[in-house]
Amino acid sequence: MSKPKCWQDVPPATIAWGASALDVETGLWRSMRPVLDENKCISCLKCWLQCPDSSIKTNEEGRVCGINMFFCKGCGVCAQVCPVNAISMHQEADFTNEKREHGEDPGRVADHVK
Ligand code: SF4
Ligand code: SF4
Repeated sequence: MSKPKCWQDVPPATIAWGASALDVETGLWRSMRPVLDENKCISCLKCWLQCPDSSIKTNEEGRVCGINMFFCKGCGVCAQVCPVNAISMHQEADFTNEKREHGEDPGRVADHVK
């Protein structure tokens, strides 16, 4: 089979259901991890708007306050859209000993199975 030249050449596929970001924990897909520098962040919310997995966390004042690693798949969109480079991407392997979040480990398969 020849390589597709553009998106119209790609065979049709199916989306099981829409708006599934909150139902499917895609954190285990991640090989790169976004890191937020809250001192640089101006809370423009571009990352919150563009994140395909609704992983950007906001506090009661509507300011970005973190990233949910159970859902973040490491696509890097947030880092790309940030106008002040407040989010940088790092190898997931660099965080092997720092994966605890609310007592669970986003990098451990068993902690994704409810
Ligand atoms: S890398 Fe950024 S945009 Fe991509 S899923 Fe994670 S938080 Fe969302
Ligand atoms: S895009 Fe950058 S500056 Fe804007 S809210 Fe996100 S981290 Fe903060």
